[in-house]
Amino acid sequence: MKCIAIESTAHTFGCSVVDGDGNVLSDVRDAYKTDKGGMIPMDVAKHHVEVKDKVIGGAIEQSGQKKFDLVSFSCSPGIPPCLKVGIKTAKELARKLNVPLIGVNHCVSHLTSGLLFTGAGDPVFLFCSGANTQIVGLEGGKYRIFGEAISIAIGNMLDKFGREIGFGFPAGPKIEEYAKKGKNFIELPYVVKGMDIELSGILTKAIQLYRNGVSKEDLCYSLQETVFAMLAETSERALAHTGKKELLLIGGVAANKRFGEMLNNMCEERGAKFFTVSLKYSADNAAMIAWQGILERDFAVKPKDFDSIDINPRQRTDQVEVSWK
Ligand code: AMP
Ligand code: MG
Repeated sequence: MKCIAIESTAHTFGCSVVDGDGNVLSDVRDAYKTDKGGMIPMDVAKHHVEVKDKVIGGAIEQSGQKKFDLVSFSCSPGIPPCLKVGIKTAKELARKLNVPLIGVNHCVSHLTSGLLFTGAGDPVFLFCSGANTQIVGLEGGKYRIFGEAISIAIGNMLDKFGREIGFGFPAGPKIEEYAKKGKNFIELPYVVKGMDIELSGILTKAIQLYRNGVSKEDLCYSLQETVFAMLAETSERALAHTGKKELLLIGGVAANKRFGEMLNNMCEERGAKFFTVSLKYSADNAAMIAWQGILERDFAVKPKDFDSIDINPRQRTDQVEVSWK
């Protein structure tokens, strides 16, 4: 089984080939970036159209494969204009190869590929990306959301703060770099409700302090320490609540070393095992979409029925039936 997949939900257009044992045979990506300002949906979609042929050609060449059995693509959730580029491209590719097509949920793909890439068994997932901040666990055939950020997600909050202080998109890596140079911890709103957190107040406060002259370094440092502590507290609560013994950090924000260090300390203290995907697979990528396609291959659709496949920009993780092993 060789699955070729397309990822296009947000900033990244990716193509990857994965085999039935989960070996990544190729993984090519091109991510939309800015020097200043955030993501403008139509500009991101335009970026995807511009790079798609090069990315797909590169992934096929890198894989060394000539025959494919399945095309998978991320059909949900995501930015509608970006998803539309993905579905159109995936249908064209599957027609050309004359193979079945499957649309998969991007967030669920982050979870299942996290298991593939780390060897974790039945963890509490801490999913921290641009658009999601969720504490998730598999219970009764669905990925249940035990806790989440009530208004904006962690990556989005970091990117908005970064935009305010003159960083481009994505701002997370630059905030991490500046945080290392921070000397003074400034108290910021710490809002935890059970296993939920709230991040819009801390964003407003950090922006106010910046406008009042507090240094970027001290604010990046204090923002990281406060937000990561909120998530360490809530994921510890989820471990206690579920009795699970593993924590798996996934999503783009998992690239942050300080975040991993704080979560690892928490896990060590309570005898749980901490896993995080390697830097390469923490961000959006098509390898995870290929793996999810392989898991769901029994539901793939033949070319004559491609009209039945559509995008679903708002589908939540807990709406997907976990029908695979
Ligand atoms: P994703 O949506 O999963 O691709 O993740 C993208 C998000 O991860 C963006 O909001 C980035 O700012 C954030 N991000 C990437 N690298 C880091 C980092 N080193 N520290 C914190 N956030 C990061
Ligand atoms: Mg993602």
